[in-house]
Amino acid sequence: MLLSVENLRVSYGGIRALHGVDFQVAEGEIVCIIGANGAGKSTTLKAISRLVPAEPGSKMTYQGEDLLQYTPDKVASELGIVQVPEGRRIFGNLTVMENLKLATYARQDHEQIQEDLKRVFALFPRLAERKKQEGATLSGGEQQMLAVGRALMTGRRLMLLDEPSMGLAPLLMQDMFESLKEINQEGTTILLVEQNARMALRFAQRGYVLENGNLVLEGSSDELLTDPEVKQAYLGG
Ligand code: ATP
Repeated sequence: MLLSVENLRVSYGGIRALHGVDFQVAEGEIVCIIGANGAGKSTTLKAISRLVPAEPGSKMTYQGEDLLQYTPDKVASELGIVQVPEGRRIFGNLTVMENLKLATYARQDHEQIQEDLKRVFALFPRLAERKKQEGATLSGGEQQMLAVGRALMTGRRLMLLDEPSMGLAPLLMQDMFESLKEINQEGTTILLVEQNARMALRFAQRGYVLENGNLVLEGSSDELLTDPEVKQAYLGG
């Protein structure tokens, strides 16, 4: 297993958000976690990135290594785990190009960086037109494109995506998922969390359903897409 999570518990100020979550991601997979508002999806990704502390008794390993030994910066720079946060965390006072370049700071493979840059601009021509525009002045959807673009530039082994579809028009959302599939085929494993269950399950091979901090169901995407409870609760009946 590339990533193995066991009995993951996280609390905020005494209120538990994750009640002992277990799941695994194998090398090369695309796995999604779906769930309603406040189910604990973002918290799960933040725990893997070590941005929120896991409670004692939680276990997380990455390639067999104890993730809990790593600080957030080492998770990114040494393990190659990159998180695309919900809500477009980009640098507002830097230009589009500067944001993208900054994401490559730990990479040495300069030729591949140029290829990745071309791919980002092919995927998001609006960003290509706005290379010199400051991040803060982009529209919400454009900022989301830049956030995803930055993740594509990071040279990642495992990509954690927090609601990448948020704020994107449907057509663009499909293009983005297509592009993420290509990246997956080139060797990046993807774990994504989404409220848009239908989109996520069409994109991923496997999924988990998170409810109030508990994983209540897992299966192949096909199984979950046809599961009566999932249909009722997450796919609009
Ligand atoms: P959404 O789809 O709405 O983004 P989510 O599934 O990602 O939701 P989380 O953001 O992980 O949910 O939140 C899980 C629970 O933890 C929620 O009840 C939320 O209010 C709580 N929570 C999250 N972050 C904090 C925080 N920093 N302080 C206190 N409570 C928090």
